Amino acid sequence: MTTGTIPAEMFVPRFLGRGEIGFARKPVPEPGSGQLLIRTKANALCGSERGQFFDGSEVTPGHEAAGVVVVAGSETRTAVGTPGVTYLMDFCGECRSCGLGFTNQCTNKRGDIGFNKDGGYGAYVLINENVFFPIGDDVPLAEATMLLDVMGTTGHAIQRGLRLREDVRSLGIAGAGPVGLGALVMARILLGSELLVVISDLAPYRLDLARRLGGNVIDLREKTLADGLREHGLDAVDVAIDTSGKSAARRSHLEVLSKRGVLVCAGHGEGLSLDVSRDLIAPERAVLGSEYFRYDELSSNLEILRKHLPYLGQIVTHRFSVQDIKEAFELFFRGETGKVLVEQ
Ligand SMILES: [Zn+2]
Ligand SMILES: [Zn+2]
Repeated sequence: MTTGTIPAEMFVPRFLGRGEIGFARKPVPEPGSGQLLIRTKANALCGSERGQFFDGSEVTPGHEAAGVVVVAGSETRTAVGTPGVTYLMDFCGECRSCGLGFTNQCTNKRGDIGFNKDGGYGAYVLINENVFFPIGDDVPLAEATMLLDVMGTTGHAIQRGLRLREDVRSLGIAGAGPVGLGALVMARILLGSELLVVISDLAPYRLDLARRLGGNVIDLREKTLADGLREHGLDAVDVAIDTSGKSAARRSHLEVLSKRGVLVCAGHGEGLSLDVSRDLIAPERAVLGSEYFRYDELSSNLEILRKHLPYLGQIVTHRFSVQDIKEAFELFFRGETGKVLVEQ
C-alpha cells in the first residue's frame, strides 16, 4: 500500500567528517515484507553523533526520528498515514532478552538505525515494522522525538535506580545536556516535584535551562559538586545519574552518594575506578549501567508526554531545516542549546 507520490531519489545529508556535511542523492528504498517506509518530519540531534560529525559516516545518521508511514510492505499491520517514532535498536523479537521485553538487550540485533542503517536525517527511512511506535494524531511529530532519548533513555535509567533504591529523596544528575535535562523532568514527573534534584554542568546556557525546569543547579566552573550540594542543603544524594560519560563526574557523584545509594551510568564514554570495599561493600552502594530503553516503555511515556507536553516541550530549544543541519550541529556541540531538531 502506498500514499501520494514517492520520488525515486532523495537528497540526504552526507557526514563527511571534520564537521563538514554535504548532500548526496540516494534512492528512496522500497519496503519489503514486514517493512515500512517512513517520511521523516523531525529528527533530534544527539550527543552520540559526535563521532559521525567529526569522523564521517557511510550511512545517513539520525536515530531520533518522527514521521509518517507512506508505504507499508506486505505482512504489515500499520496503516499508511500513521504518525509515529522509530526505535533505534532493530531488535529480533525472538531471543531470550526480547522474549522478556528487554528489547534494548537483544542478543540478535539486526542493526542500529542511524549508525549502521540509514537513519532519520534522510527524507525517507526504511524500517522493520517492529521498531515503529505509532503515536496518534494529538502529539506533534517534533515533540514526539522526545519519546526517544529525552524521555525513554532517562525514564529507563531512573527505573533502574528505583529497583535498587525505593526511598529516593534526592537525585544528582551529572550533565545538563538533553539527556540530563530529560532525567530532570522525568524524575520530577515520575517521583513528584518534592524530589530534590541537583544537576551540575559547566555550560551556562544549559544550567539556566535546568533551573527553569525546576532543577537545583551547580555550576562546576565555580564550585565542586560537594560544595554545591551543601549550598542546596544536602550532604549526599540517594541516586545519581551520570549522563556526561566523564570519569570525574562519575567519581564525584559516587563520593556524595548516601549509604544504600545508587549510581546509574547512562552516558557512554570514560571509565570509573572503584575502591570496592569503601565505595560499594561497606555502604552497600550500587553502580549500574543503563542502555537506551525497552520498546514497551514507549506507551507509558506517550501518556506522560500527552499530559506534560508544555513542560517537556521546553527541552526543545532550536529547530533547523535539514539544509542547515551543519549549523544545527555546530550550535549543539557548543553547548548553547537544549534539544535541537532538524525538520523537513
Ligand atoms: Zn540519541
Ligand atoms: Zn532479540
